[in-house]
Amino acid sequence: MKRALLAAFVLVAAPGAGAVSAQNFATDDAVLRSIWTEAMDYSEVERLAQVLLDSVGPRLTGAPGMRAAHDWAVRQYGAWGIEARNEQYGTWRGWDRGITHIDLIEPRVRSLEGMMLAWSPGTNGRNVEGSVVILPEFSNPAAFRAWLPQVRGRFVLTSYAQQSCRPLRQFEEFGMEGALEKARDERQAGMRAWNARIQSTGLSMNDLRLALEGAGAAAILQSNWSNDYGVNKIFNTNTTRTPTIDLGCEDYGLVYRLAENDQSPKLRLRADARFTGEQPTFNTIATIPGSEKPNEYILLSAHFDSWDGGSGATDNASGTVLMMDVMRILKKVYPNPKRTILVGHWGGEEQGLNGSRAFAADHPEIVEGLHASFNQDNGTGRVVNISMQGFVDAGEYFGRWLGRIPSEVTQHIALGIPGMPGGGGSDYASFVCAGAPAFNLSALNWGYGTYTWHTNRDTYDKLVFDDIRNNVALAAMLVYLADEEPEKIGRTQRMLPPTNDGQPRTWPQCREAQRAAP
Ligand SMILES: [Zn+2]
Repeated sequence: MKRALLAAFVLVAAPGAGAVSAQNFATDDAVLRSIWTEAMDYSEVERLAQVLLDSVGPRLTGAPGMRAAHDWAVRQYGAWGIEARNEQYGTWRGWDRGITHIDLIEPRVRSLEGMMLAWSPGTNGRNVEGSVVILPEFSNPAAFRAWLPQVRGRFVLTSYAQQSCRPLRQFEEFGMEGALEKARDERQAGMRAWNARIQSTGLSMNDLRLALEGAGAAAILQSNWSNDYGVNKIFNTNTTRTPTIDLGCEDYGLVYRLAENDQSPKLRLRADARFTGEQPTFNTIATIPGSEKPNEYILLSAHFDSWDGGSGATDNASGTVLMMDVMRILKKVYPNPKRTILVGHWGGEEQGLNGSRAFAADHPEIVEGLHASFNQDNGTGRVVNISMQGFVDAGEYFGRWLGRIPSEVTQHIALGIPGMPGGGGSDYASFVCAGAPAFNLSALNWGYGTYTWHTNRDTYDKLVFDDIRNNVALAAMLVYLADEEPEKIGRTQRMLPPTNDGQPRTWPQCREAQRAAP
C-alpha cells in the first residue's frame, strides 16, 4: 500500500516515463531544475536513435545514408525551432552498399554470415561460384608469384582461422587449470604464424589484395573477428574489381577447415555495390545565437558518420542523439544564452577527423571565440572521465560546474587536472591543437572495444538509454553553467612532461583535413 502511494506521488510530482528524481540535488536554480526534468522525464533520445539507426541506418562517408542523416538532422532541428544547416567541406568517394549473399554450396549447403567490406566492388549482378584456396606460406616472394595464377576464379582465404570463436573469458570461467593461458597462447601463436605467412608474400595486406585481384580471384575472404560472441569489425577494402568479403568467425572456420582437409568446398556469392563518383561531404551545424556575446561560442561536438557493418549505434549515434537532445532542451529552457551555442555533427571522422578539422580551418573566428567545447564519442556509457587537456585554468571551472550538478551524475566523474592535450582519437583534438579549450566527455566503455566499436553488432539495442540521459543532463548543464561564467576559460597551456624516452614533448600540431578521398 505504501509503495503504491509513493509511486503515485512520484508520478504526479515528475510526470513522464522515467520519473527519475534528483535525490541529492539541492539547488534553487530554475534552469538546472528544468534541464533535469527535460532530460529525465521528457527525453527524446530513444525516438531520435530509433529513427536514425533503424530507418536512416549507417552513415558511411560518401554513402547515401550519410546524406540522408544530414538532411534528417536539419529537419529535426527545424521542428524544434533551431536554425541548422549542412555545410559542405569537401567530397569523398561515393559508394552504395547493396546486398551481400554468400553460400556454401558443396559439400553441403549453408548460407554464410558474410558482408562486403566498405567500398568493395560487387559481382555486377551475377552469382559468382568457385572453389576455395587458402593462402599458403611461401619460401620467398618469387614462390608467391609462381603460385599466384592458381587463384583465378577462386575464393581466397586471407585471414587466420580461429581455433575457437569463444571469447577468452569463457576459458577463464569454465576451463580447467591453465585453459585460459593455453587458449591465449595458441591464439597468439596462430596469429603470429599467419602474419608471417602474409609477410612471406613480400606484400602488405593491401598490396596482397591487389595482387589477388590482378590474378583474377573470384573473391577475397577474410574474418576480422573481434574476440567476442558473433562480432566482427567491418572496415574498408582497396579492391576495385574483386569483392572483399568478411565472414563471421564460425563460418570462416568452417570454410577454412573444409579446404584444409581437402573436402572441396564450393561457394556462391552475390554482392551488389554501386560506386557513385565523388560525393559532397558535410558537417551539420545547428545554432542558438548568443544575446550578449554572440562572438563567443560554446560548441557541442559529436561525429555523425560511422562505419557500416552495423548501424553505428555506439559510434556515434549515442553521442549524436545526446547532443541533439541537449540542443532541444536548451532551446526550450534557456533560449537566450549570452554566448552563441553551436553543435557540430561532423562528417568524415572515421577517415581522420576530416569534418571537424575542416570546420576549425574554415571558421577561425569560432576557434578564436571558443569559450568551451564538449565532445562525446566513445560509446553509450555514462561519462566517467573529463580531462582538462592541458589547459591549466580549466580545472577550476569544471570543479565549480560539477559542484552544481546533481550527484547522481557527478559521482561517476573523475576530472583529469591538468590532463594532457589529446592529439587525435576524436574531434576535440581538432580544436585542442589550435589552443582552444575543447574537452572530451569520456564514457564508461560497456564492452566498446570488442563488442560494438566498428563492428557488425553496433546496433540500436546496444544503446543504454539511462546512461545517455545521464549524459544529456550533464552536457546541457555544462553548457548552461559555462555560459553563466563572466570570463572565457583561459588558454594557458601546462608545462608538458618529457616523453617516455626522455624527449621534450610539444603541444599537438593541427593537421589539415582531407577534403577528398585519396
Ligand atoms: Zn567515433
